[in-house]
Amino acid sequence: MLNEQELQRYQRQLLMFDKEGQEKLKQSRVFIAGGGGLGCPIALYLAVAGVGCIDIADMDAVEQTNLNRQVLHWEKDIGKPKVLSIKEKIRQINPYINIIARHVTITEENVLELVRDADIIVDALDNFSARYLLNHASLQTGIPLVHGAIRGFDGQLMTIIPGKTACLKCVFPHAPPEEVFPVIGVTPGIIGTIQANEVLKYLLQTGEPLEGLLVWDGLNAKMDSFKIQRRNKCEACGDPDL
Ligand SMILES: [Zn+2]
Repeated sequence: MLNEQELQRYQRQLLMFDKEGQEKLKQSRVFIAGGGGLGCPIALYLAVAGVGCIDIADMDAVEQTNLNRQVLHWEKDIGKPKVLSIKEKIRQINPYINIIARHVTITEENVLELVRDADIIVDALDNFSARYLLNHASLQTGIPLVHGAIRGFDGQLMTIIPGKTACLKCVFPHAPPEEVFPVIGVTPGIIGTIQANEVLKYLLQTGEPLEGLLVWDGLNAKMDSFKIQRRNKCEACGDPDL
């Protein structure tokens, strides 16, 4: 049940989706893979919206080079595990929600266990090999996945509904080479915020999920979305007999 403070805190949202919707958010659990450039705005906006349980996994510690974009990590946090840095901030931002900080690497062995209890999974990672693990876990469990990725001023995202929409491997069958990529903080800010918007819509069952691929071109301030078909021969979600 929402207490008096929570009813006041979420007053402007209650004008949109009343107490029932807010209770739904409070009962929800979101798994965020990655506590970096995308993970920070995603955790922040889900927290202020009142998502009851934010479960976040990241193995890294905060470094000086992260501070141009990972807005929940501050100068004083250098050396601290990112998940603990995020937990500290989120607790101060919204004390009425629960945050689970997992200082782990996502592997083939632990991924199903990590996502199992989530209502929705968010990809806030920086490499495709780990993203494919999330995609596989999403397909295996039937839990939707909101993918996001960034580079420089460019970003992309898509919402994957297992069994219905294209999966990550339908669109990106091969991982691009890993690199130390350029990035400016506004890009994960924009993409991460839209990912959080996708999560909130899904939890509230409102609006239409972004089932195609949305591409953000920051230098030209252009956003396009493309319809994506499932590939019958996709090695992750296709039919092996075809
Ligand atoms: Zn697929």
